[in-house]
Amino acid sequence: HPVIVAIDGPSGTGKSSTSKAVAARLGMGYLDTGAQYRAITWWMLSNGVDVNDPAAVAAVSGKPDIVSGTDPLAPTITVDGTDVAGPIRTPEVTGAVSAVSAVPAVRTRITELQRTIAADAPGGIVVEGRDIGTTVLPDADVKIFLTAAPEARAARRSGELKATGPGAPDLAATREALIKRDAADSGRKTSPLAKAGDATEMDTTELTLEQVISCVISVIED
Ligand code: C5P
Repeated sequence: HPVIVAIDGPSGTGKSSTSKAVAARLGMGYLDTGAQYRAITWWMLSNGVDVNDPAAVAAVSGKPDIVSGTDPLAPTITVDGTDVAGPIRTPEVTGAVSAVSAVPAVRTRITELQRTIAADAPGGIVVEGRDIGTTVLPDADVKIFLTAAPEARAARRSGELKATGPGAPDLAATREALIKRDAADSGRKTSPLAKAGDATEMDTTELTLEQVISCVISVIED
């Protein structure tokens, strides 16, 4: 059957770059589950839903039609047909995504989408997120859990944001936002970031992207 690879870990560990490159090299699909949570959060904000009211968020969580394109060389994300790849990376969405993704109805909905996409990937798929190996796809063939020291993670995030253009937050602000989001993500009851018992853990602090990619591919081909 097509191979399913789950790559979990916090932001700034090189998860997205690694997952995309591994999928491209092995001819597999790629799914960014954080982008799906960001997309539903963007829809909530765009429609004036109070993201700090879990009941209000739950009530409309089935409304937006979220579609992910799984080509690792050109991943896409649309909401009701609108391309939201840019808007889902704004500080407004980043600041609200932890609250929205903590709502059980949101997680159920997005988890179903993820399972459908994974089941429909003929060449197999690399799925990156926080809870893929534990909750979404507990039967994944390969499970990787990436970690990195906080300083390295903030530096990487800051570098990614700088690439988005002028006005990007500086390293200190990025570091603070990252620590805040980690705390919000891990402090909640529903689906905390977690390493599956059968996942291979890799600390990427001292590794180059190329080294992490090779390491993941060797685990998959093992
Ligand atoms: O990966 P990224 O940083 O884009 O994820 C954005 C947010 O989406 C995370 O901070 C987390 O709140 C949520 N998320 C989640 N479960 C996932 C992936 C992301 O709750 N599998």
